[in-house]
Amino acid sequence: MDCIFCKIAAGTIPSTRVHEDELVIAFRDIRPQAPVHVIVIPRAHLTSLQDLNDEKLAGRLLHVAADVARKEKLDQGWRLIANSGEHAGQEVAHLHLHVLGGRPLGRMLQPAKGTPS
Ligand code: AMP
Ligand code: ZN
Repeated sequence: MDCIFCKIAAGTIPSTRVHEDELVIAFRDIRPQAPVHVIVIPRAHLTSLQDLNDEKLAGRLLHVAADVARKEKLDQGWRLIANSGEHAGQEVAHLHLHVLGGRPLGRMLQPAKGTPS
């Protein structure tokens, strides 16, 4: 499987892990967009949330994201992002959640170019 996040899960590509359990791992994003930027992934390869059909895994992913935010002391707020598919700009085709915080994050979405305001 030529998937960078599968390789991170297998440990063949290094990462800075902040959490691991039998279903899920979390590690720091290599190009952080905020002081805290952690990626949460299932160990199993799923392309995106579109393919998620497992309540236990869904719950674990959310639970770990919230746990990371607590451990990183993001008491002033944080954001969870899951880019799914082309229109969302998903670059890595392995389901992942972004946990972002540590600075004001602005509005949720920037208007797309050409969108009337
Ligand atoms: P997305 O655009 O939602 O697919 O986000 C993919 C994220 O993976 C980006 O924020 C990248 O910086 C991050 N990323 C890509 N390769 C690595 C890596 N080897 N270790 C950590 N994060 C990575
Ligand atoms: Zn994968």
